[in-house]
Amino acid sequence: MTAHNLIIIGSGPAGFTAAIYAARANLKPLLFEGLAKGGQPGGQLMLTTDVENYPGFPEGVLGPEMMDLFRKQAARFGTELLQQDVTAADFSKRPFRVTSDGKEYSANAVIIATGASANWLNIPSEKALQGHGVSACATCDGFFFKGKEVVVVGGGDSAVEEATFLTKFATRVTIVHRRAELRASKIMQDRARANKKIDFIWDSAVTDIQDPAQKKVTAVVLKNLKTGAVSEKKTDGVFMAIGHTPNSEIFKGQVALDAKGYIGVHDGTLTNVPGVFACGDVQDHKYRQAVTAAGTGCMAALDAERFLGAGH
Ligand code: NAP
Repeated sequence: MTAHNLIIIGSGPAGFTAAIYAARANLKPLLFEGLAKGGQPGGQLMLTTDVENYPGFPEGVLGPEMMDLFRKQAARFGTELLQQDVTAADFSKRPFRVTSDGKEYSANAVIIATGASANWLNIPSEKALQGHGVSACATCDGFFFKGKEVVVVGGGDSAVEEATFLTKFATRVTIVHRRAELRASKIMQDRARANKKIDFIWDSAVTDIQDPAQKKVTAVVLKNLKTGAVSEKKTDGVFMAIGHTPNSEIFKGQVALDAKGYIGVHDGTLTNVPGVFACGDVQDHKYRQAVTAAGTGCMAALDAERFLGAGH
């Protein structure tokens, strides 16, 4: 077993920001980036193209390029980086233990920054067209659909909120929902229904997206779940809004999670286990932005530094 002062799990904006702060505070953090295969080192930004809303990049920056810069900055101050997944954690006593690649690592403090993953439909072409008209983040990518038509999949608050947001750019936004009733709150539903740019297709599933050969979205294939009828609808983009899943599975039973699996935090980034901190999307279902994730990553490092400095 190798012993460390601080272990950071996750390599999105939250994890790398925590690492930059912790390394500069001389805490010599070890950061598990996750595996390129299966996991998603770099987090959700690896799935986007241009990032135009991260302060400091007036010309915009590619998502993967930005994460490479975060990574370099964390490494520059001496963060030890391991491209491995953490597969188990034991926070029942200190030092805490995490398992990766069959090996055990111990630490006096742990920062969890494993993020969340957007849920996808798992249909043909969806992956090939991610970043080319298929997105799970209207805030990130809506701007690219100025004067175009888009489809939003889902019936919850996210779907309705994203559809409403997208009308700032798109000429028409069609919400495709698998039932005939929205799950979204009444006030958000009313707003969407009153918006002349939004229309609805009910009781329908998107079963395929065209056209990967052109590397752009041209249409969705729809199946009416009541009648079985299959049709095609022309569109320039598809936004998935069918929920997110926090990447907290391995921490079940180790730290308190809410009903949806998000890690509970109080007073900044403190979990119910003293010495274990959580930041970024694994503890935030509300804001979910790179800049807010980075902000909480900084908070987690400062909280960990204070905890370790208090002689723990
Ligand atoms: P959600 O409430 O879980 O809604 C997910 C939607 O996607 C549901 O309508 C669901 O259909 C649909 N769906 C799920 N899997 C699907 C699949 N495989 N194929 C097709 N459709 C599928 O998720 P959310 O909208 O992201 O909201 C998450 C939480 O954040 C909620 O508590 C929400 O209230 C909150 N939120 C709040 C705000 C706000 O207040 N401003 C904004 C966004 C989110 P069914 O309805 O048939 O299950």
